[in-house]
Amino acid sequence: MFDPRNHIPAPAELAGRVVAITGASSGLGHAVALACARCQANVVLVGRSAPKLEAVHAQIAAAGAPQASIAVLDLEQALAQDYEQLAAAVLERYGRLDGLLHNAALLGTLTPIEQYDVPTWCRVLHVNLTAAFALTQVLLPALKKSPDASVVFTASSVGRRGRAYWGAYAVSKFGLEGLAQVLADELEGISHVRVNTLNPGRARTAMRRQAYPAEDLATVPLPETLTAAYIALLGPASRGVTGQAFDAQSSPSPAAAPASNPRSSS
Ligand code: NDP
Repeated sequence: MFDPRNHIPAPAELAGRVVAITGASSGLGHAVALACARCQANVVLVGRSAPKLEAVHAQIAAAGAPQASIAVLDLEQALAQDYEQLAAAVLERYGRLDGLLHNAALLGTLTPIEQYDVPTWCRVLHVNLTAAFALTQVLLPALKKSPDASVVFTASSVGRRGRAYWGAYAVSKFGLEGLAQVLADELEGISHVRVNTLNPGRARTAMRRQAYPAEDLATVPLPETLTAAYIALLGPASRGVTGQAFDAQSSPSPAAAPASNPRSSS
C-alpha cells in the first residue's frame, strides 16, 4: 500500500516533470523546491517576494539541477489576471504541468473563536484556501495536458481534528481537505490528475516559531528531513492514488501535542 512516509527518492525520480510550488521562498516550500530540483524536476517557484525566489533559483542553479523558473504571486493581493498570466506562462514555457504543491499559508492568530478578529479570519481563509482553489482552477488545463499529474494540498493535524484557538488556520486546513476530496472525485476517471493532501507534521520553520514561541526548536525536525514524502506524492510513486489524506511523519510527539494546549501542535 502506498505510504509516502516510507519513500526513498531515486536521484532522477522527477526527471522531465514540471512541478509548481507555492511558498517556495522559505520553510518547507523552499526545502521541497530544492529536493524536487535535485530529483531533476523543472521547478516553478511561486512566491510573493522576488528577491527570496531569486535566491532559491540561484541555489538550484548552484546545485547543477534543471533550471527553475520564478512566478511572483502574492496570494493575498492577486487578481484573476495575475493567476491567468501565471497559467499562460507555464503553458508557454513547458506546455503542461505535472505537479502542483499548495504549500504557502498564513498562521493568523491563536485566539478563541469568540474573540477572533474578522479581517484576520478573511486574510487567512483567502490565502490558505481561496487562493489555492483559484490557482488550482486556473492551472487545471496545464495539469490535464500531463500524462500523470499530481495536485498536493498541505494539510495540518488541526485541520483534521479541530482544536481550540486555532481559528481560521484550522478551518482553512479543513477546507483544503474538502477541496481535495471534491476535486479528486470530479477528476477521477476523466483525467490523469490525482489530488491528495499531505500533513508535514512538526517542522522547524518561521510558522512553527510563531505558533510555539516557547518551544525548543532544536527538538523539531528540519524541513530538509521531510521532503521524501512530498516527492512520493508529486512524482510517479503515487500514480493512481487520489482523494486521500497522508502524513509525512509517523506520529506527532504526544508530549508536545496535548489537545487542550493551543501552543503545542499544528
Ligand atoms: P513558513 O511560514 O516558513 O512558510 C510559509 C510560506 O508561505 C512562505 O514561503 C511565505 O512566503 C508563503 N506565503 C505566506 N503568505 C503568502 C502570500 N500572501 N502570498 C504568497 N506566499 C505567501 O511556514 P512553513 O514552511 O512551516 O509552512 C508550510 C506549510 O506547511 C503551510 O501550509 C503550513 O500550514 C504547513 N504546516 C507546517 C507545519 C510546521 O510545523 N511548520 C505543521 C503542519 C503544517 P514568504 O517567504 O514571502 O514569507
